[in-house]
Amino acid sequence: MKLGVVAEKLGLSFEHGVPTGQIKGYPYYVTQVSIDTFIKVPMMTFVFEKTLEKEHVKAIQKAVGMQQIRIESVVLNQNAVHIMFKHGIKQSDKHQAFLDKVADAFKDQGLKALNHCPFCGLEETDSHRIVMGAVVKVHDACAKNFYQELTERVEQEEKSNDNLVKSLGLAVVGAIAGAIPIFISIVFFQYMLALLYALIPLGSFYGYKFGKAARKSWVPAAVSIISLVIVLSLHFWLYNAIAAFEGISLTDALNVADFRSAFISDLLTNVLFLGIGIWISWRQMYKQTTGAVKKSFSGLNK
Ligand SMILES: [Zn+2]
Repeated sequence: MKLGVVAEKLGLSFEHGVPTGQIKGYPYYVTQVSIDTFIKVPMMTFVFEKTLEKEHVKAIQKAVGMQQIRIESVVLNQNAVHIMFKHGIKQSDKHQAFLDKVADAFKDQGLKALNHCPFCGLEETDSHRIVMGAVVKVHDACAKNFYQELTERVEQEEKSNDNLVKSLGLAVVGAIAGAIPIFISIVFFQYMLALLYALIPLGSFYGYKFGKAARKSWVPAAVSIISLVIVLSLHFWLYNAIAAFEGISLTDALNVADFRSAFISDLLTNVLFLGIGIWISWRQMYKQTTGAVKKSFSGLNK
């Protein structure tokens, strides 16, 4: 749903092009939030002046009545929350009561909306920026300085190849470790679960991360390729073992029609399931890369 339509349905006005509402002194912005690689849904975004602690998050979750809240960093670290429209995107008493309850939870937790320049802390601001879809009051100079320093730092990181070999090696180890649950479920339970395949690219990514090399934008693609190689190796290794158990070579076994069709259908299933696994984990990986960091702060560049 387009934000303009959402604003109209909720009777919200626009502040700097963003549908904006206010509940008990807490402003909120309606933003499009990615829930996975491709799907975005409109949510209400509240921005606070400091990082949300665990107990804050728990209290908000309790008031919202569901787990689906997302913590976001809007300039500051983890200082914003996206909340779904629990009662549909329309004006209703239920929606209003829901908002009241959420705002009361903020108040109980002593949370304050971000109402000063997040860079220098001064209240009198002279400009604004749109960050992660939310309006943030800033000093023009503060935002420019911050963005310049950030991009310089990130670009320097992107150029660095420190620890790259170590990280790629650990990405292979991570992919193998991530494949163990699938291996166990196939060998011992003759059972495949697509969701488990997401553990391979994720294991690989966290292995890479552990190696401390720069998380450049291509890292999710690299760990996907590593994952594919590991899955194919595992497949060949498994069928090789089955053929050896029958006392013949894999080449000879593949000449047998039944063996060949099982080999091919398993191969296709493996590749398809890995594809789903990569699809599930891509966003989780991508948002930790330098490309995503630059993109998330691109609103500061004005
Ligand atoms: Zn400032």
